[in-house]
Amino acid sequence: MGTNAAPQAAPGAAPRIEYRSVTKRFGSAGGPTVTAVEGVTLSIRDGEVVSLIGPSGCGKSTLLGMGSGLYLPTQGEVLVDGERVDGPNDHVAFMLQKDLLLPWRTIRENVEYGLEIKGMAAAERRPLALDLLGRFHLGGFENHYPRQLSGGMRQRAAMARTLAVDPSVLLMDEPFSALDAQTKMVLQQDLATMLAREGRTALLITHDLAESIILSDRVLVMSPRPGRIIEEIPIDLPDRENPMVRRRKPGVAVYVERLMELLRIGETLETLETA
Ligand code: ADP
Ligand code: MG
Repeated sequence: MGTNAAPQAAPGAAPRIEYRSVTKRFGSAGGPTVTAVEGVTLSIRDGEVVSLIGPSGCGKSTLLGMGSGLYLPTQGEVLVDGERVDGPNDHVAFMLQKDLLLPWRTIRENVEYGLEIKGMAAAERRPLALDLLGRFHLGGFENHYPRQLSGGMRQRAAMARTLAVDPSVLLMDEPFSALDAQTKMVLQQDLATMLAREGRTALLITHDLAESIILSDRVLVMSPRPGRIIEEIPIDLPDRENPMVRRRKPGVAVYVERLMELLRIGETLETLETA
């Protein structure tokens, strides 16, 4: 380690993250079994950003949880850098809607946390944390506690914390959904610039259709539970590193329309109107 550049994969190397026929069932004591995810196969190349959308409860978070090793598949397997995920590991980093910052640690100490666990010396991890905080426009706030920051600043600190461990894959579960519209746009910009500049690989869950289109190379659409991937849409638009620019492309509206069709959002509206 020592730098924050993602490790380079050799050409033709295994995908960064791969799901092979993954099914996940949850059982409750005496209650019925829920099949959250069924037969999902997907593969993300080095440097690729993929978004996952689907109706609430269709298994998106469960899918991401299996990427991080939080849950194990009932059937099938998940591989990161060609290695089977069999529990929590530091090849993947997780970012959630809630920032997961430790309230008793300063922002800098939060960013250093993962490195501390890995056994990196304070003298080595400190400059790394400060550099990351600077890149996410938090220079000067390193000694603040999470409660002293706005929601947007906390999510930027969370991004810095996620990157500090230099993961092979970033898994993000609706990271911006609790933010107001303007703050969200700024963070989308920060995220997209970082992903492109560092060639990071990411799987992003969002319920914001436009966000899925402007931030990614590909959008995967899931069915209602049990969640399967019903469509894969490559986003053929320039400027992935610059969402403010990409947002204005006329093609975005066409993709939004297609996603609405796939998610049957129009039909839901008709049902509401006739109810
Ligand atoms: P999404 O993120 O798409 O909204 P989730 O992956 O959170 O959906 O949930 C999918 C289904 O799996 C839901 O029916 C949910 O109740 C169930 N589920 C998720 N996690 C657990 C768990 N730890 N134990 C039991 N059921 C779960
Ligand atoms: Mg979820």
